[in-house]
Amino acid sequence: MDQKTRVRFNPRSTTTDQPPTAWPEDVIARYLTAGGSTVDLSYDTRSGTIAAVCTGELCGWADSTDTKGRFTDTPEQEQQRFQEWLPVAKKYANDHAEKCRAMPRPTA
Ligand SMILES: [Zn+2]
Repeated sequence: MDQKTRVRFNPRSTTTDQPPTAWPEDVIARYLTAGGSTVDLSYDTRSGTIAAVCTGELCGWADSTDTKGRFTDTPEQEQQRFQEWLPVAKKYANDHAEKCRAMPRPTA
C-alpha cells in the first residue's frame, strides 16, 4: 500500500452559496476583462502551479505561476506556498483583464 497518498489541497471556500453563474469546478478566482470576458485562475496541486487563462474569444492569453512546490510538502507547506505566490498570479491576471478587449463568443 502506498502510504504517501497526499491530502488533496482545496483552496476554494466551503460555502454553499452559488454565484449567479456557476464557475468551472477548478476556478479559484475570476477577473472581469475590459471586453466582458473573464480571466480565470486555477491551481494545479500536482504541478504546484497557479494557472491564469483568458476566456476572451481568440485572445489566447495564458500565464502560469510556479509556486515551487516539492513532492514532500505537507498540506500546510503547500497552503503557505500558495498564499505566497497568489498575489503574483493575481497581479498578472488583473493586468491582463484591465486591457483585454476580446469579447466572449455569444452562447445563443
Ligand atoms: Zn484576453
